[in-house]
Amino acid sequence: MGKETGFLEFERADNCAAAVPDRIRNFDEFRQGLDADARRRQGARCMNCGVPLCQSAMRLSGMVTGCPLHNLIPEWNDEIYRGHEDQALARLLKTSNFPEFTGRVCPALCEKACVCGLHDDPVTVHDNELYIIERAFAEGRMQPRVTKNRSGRKVAVVGSGPSGLAVADQLSHRGHDVTVFERDDRIGGLLMYGIPNMKLDKQVIARRQHLMEAEGVTFCTGVDIGKDISPKELLDQFDAVALCTGAKNPRPLQAEGMEDNLKGVYYAVDFLKMVTKSVIAKKGGRKTAKAQSSADPAALVKGKHVIVLGGGDTGNDCVGSVIRLGCKSVTQLEMMPQPPVGRLESNPWPEWPKVLKTDYGQEEAIAVFGKDPRIYTTTVKALHGKAGKLKSAEIVQVGFDQGKLVQKAGTEQTLPCDLLLIAAGFIGCQPYTAEAFGVPLTGRGTTATPEGSYRTGVEKVFTAGDMHRGQSLVVWAIAEGRGCALEIDRYLMGYTDMDV
Ligand SMILES: Cc1cc2nc3c(=O)[nH]c(=O)nc-3n(C[C@H](O)[C@H](O)[C@H](O)COP(=O)(O)OP(=O)(O)OC[C@H]3O[C@@H](n4cnc5c(N)ncnc54)[C@H](O)[C@@H]3O)c2cc1C
Repeated sequence: MGKETGFLEFERADNCAAAVPDRIRNFDEFRQGLDADARRRQGARCMNCGVPLCQSAMRLSGMVTGCPLHNLIPEWNDEIYRGHEDQALARLLKTSNFPEFTGRVCPALCEKACVCGLHDDPVTVHDNELYIIERAFAEGRMQPRVTKNRSGRKVAVVGSGPSGLAVADQLSHRGHDVTVFERDDRIGGLLMYGIPNMKLDKQVIARRQHLMEAEGVTFCTGVDIGKDISPKELLDQFDAVALCTGAKNPRPLQAEGMEDNLKGVYYAVDFLKMVTKSVIAKKGGRKTAKAQSSADPAALVKGKHVIVLGGGDTGNDCVGSVIRLGCKSVTQLEMMPQPPVGRLESNPWPEWPKVLKTDYGQEEAIAVFGKDPRIYTTTVKALHGKAGKLKSAEIVQVGFDQGKLVQKAGTEQTLPCDLLLIAAGFIGCQPYTAEAFGVPLTGRGTTATPEGSYRTGVEKVFTAGDMHRGQSLVVWAIAEGRGCALEIDRYLMGYTDMDV
């Protein structure tokens, strides 16, 4: 602990966000980091607790609090305070493969468990992490680390989201030859075609790809395993296969009129992908055939009434995106009741706080339209169209009766709606890849493995990430990828000395 009284002397200072009117003009990242002196003061706020709950990933009341990667947070906070940036980087990279992703998009489970947060604002762990890694890239300290001793073993990774990338990064540093297969035209999974550009600039993914390629990882994009290449071919060519295909199967909307296939109804991730493709194309990115043929999202949104079904993070990303594309109005529907503003007694620190969060998209909607876009305990009951196009949505209040969701008769209301974005969650992986390999799925649509293991019942075949855990977070995908890599290494070598 560099400065014993840091937590008393210095107040928390977050990275600054650009003002709403400025940031909604484009899809650029809008948070600005602090300078080195201000960052050192933030590092000094860390109390170097004897029991650092921030790095614990404890399960309390059914939810995890603290970092799933067990990042050595007090250690690198101390190094930041002392200005030892190389040491801070070394300690960060020991447990985290891609701090440039989590430093941008992680909801910071660590900060919710920070002891400083018991009586005051928690330490800025998330922003400190981003500072360490971005300084290292800017100053040329992130150079390829090529492992000289090669094992001669070959591993195929199917899917290039954060879990697949973590498997590849770990195994490549261990000395195995890794090839990553991705069906999309660019790598990154939901980092690329889910999370919008303003939260994670896509150059950040390209920069990591270049580094991994320089370290020996091979990326094959536009290859759909199970369709373009059969499992047999892959299993014949490689010593192990990691299936990391995500959990992209959307929860369908049960509403009257869905069967009419009206124009203007989209699942959130399909819409967000279309938006990112157009942002990349406008920035002059390499144009692929798929990018050229995709629809123009601005034409769908400009001057239109939009309803986003789903009050979670994906829904918020839709709100932020349609505001940037010039919607006439945006309404976000959430089935659950509005959470309390502060913690309830039944949800004490350091449990994950079940409190109202107003994210960037909702902040922007409040600034632009003068009101919070969210309506709680409400869903869509029916869709109405004209000439095949969506025109309005009938919404209805809902409640729970003996744990079952029920619609409240007499509360129906019709809203104008040209575009409905369904962000109502996910129901597991798209099953075709697992089925092609003969890997069984659980009732939740995830790949089945023994408890705590990443090994499927099929010889040579492992699995990780959302496909295995269910739709989750980037930090969990990386943690899963690291665990899976360790098990593959043990399988290939008969032992392992890798870090989880
Ligand atoms: C809109 C949205 C916003 C989100 N925002 C956040 C956030 O802010 N913070 C956060 O922590 N988490 C966020 N998440 C969750 C996070 O993105 C996921 O938990 C994480 O990306 C899962 O990683 P993954 O590697 O398991 O799968 P994915 O990221 O889904 O990647 C799977 C990859 O596998 C590829 N693939 C599938 N099948 C095949 C095949 N047969 N052959 C070849 N390739 C295949 C897919 O194309 C995809 O690229 C968000 C999710 C969504 C939907």
